[in-house]
Amino acid sequence: MTRSEFITEYLRREGLPDSCRTVTGFKTREFERVALPCNCGLPECTGWAMVPPYDARKHEKVFGMGQMMGLVS
Ligand SMILES: [Zn+2]
Repeated sequence: MTRSEFITEYLRREGLPDSCRTVTGFKTREFERVALPCNCGLPECTGWAMVPPYDARKHEKVFGMGQMMGLVS
């Protein structure tokens, strides 16, 4: 699954309009999320996770590969 496919799938599952979509994830009036690579190992994991921007670094440390891919600074 590509990052773009993950975002599309996530928006559909959450019932969010496509207008919420951003290059990196999505943004509503209330909050923002970025799609980051994930290797948490959970069976339901698609290899991607929606993370609040303020948690991006934490996620990166625990589950990350985003830095390698240039997705997290
Ligand atoms: Zn995961």
